Amino acid sequence: MRKKLVVGNWKMHGNRASNAQLLGGLKDAGPWTADVAVCAPFLYIADTALALAGTAIGYGAQDCSAHEQGAYTGEVSPLMLADVGCRYVIVGHSERRAYHAESDQLVADKAKVALAHGVTPIVCVGETRAEREAGQTEAVVKRQLAAVIHTLGHCCGEMVVAYEPVWAIGTGLTATPAEAQAVHAVLRAQLRAATERADGMRILYGGSVKPDNATELFGQADIDGGLIGGAALKAVDFAAICRAA
Ligand code: 13P
Repeated sequence: MRKKLVVGNWKMHGNRASNAQLLGGLKDAGPWTADVAVCAPFLYIADTALALAGTAIGYGAQDCSAHEQGAYTGEVSPLMLADVGCRYVIVGHSERRAYHAESDQLVADKAKVALAHGVTPIVCVGETRAEREAGQTEAVVKRQLAAVIHTLGHCCGEMVVAYEPVWAIGTGLTATPAEAQAVHAVLRAQLRAATERADGMRILYGGSVKPDNATELFGQADIDGGLIGGAALKAVDFAAICRAA
């Protein structure tokens, strides 16, 4: 009943030539039965839009401002993302929480402004290795998600959630399908308590998803696709993951 979604997070990789090659490869490989999108660095979103015109592949950004416009040097507004056709924006990625000290509330505010302008926020939650070892996984992801639910109110059914255990990002360590599913079930239950739309919402898994583990991860009851880092930078790998979804 939920259509799978696979999103590539390019992070701070690529250039015009390599992006063109990657997008060309994806266009040749698709379409897929899952929804597919790529989140490019801001600077390359316009090129990405042109390259993907007329295809079913969506595109988006990796972050946005919590403000609509104004004197915020260096920031990019969700209004601007909507203006150039972005369907999605990742908010609260652990790299932004860690390196830019983004709080749960700031992440929630970003999600709210994005949603208000028709850009679907992909809200990332996830525990660090130390938090997992201390048995705090559930408490951490619930706290992170609660801030967003509280801020979005009845609109929270429109977001996409991504569970990304920090210890699994870029490390080659993946949560086992059962470990991931257990956290996804916790998040689904929390969403059910907040919105009637919870069963239609997509909860993505991210953290070292590769072509050879995607099928099993995506086969879990509450895993509705993936947020893909490293493997999204190679057309053959990303296409294989999209096929698995
Ligand atoms: P990797 O797939 O490289 O582990 O990255 C996951 C991620 O952070 C996607 O947002």
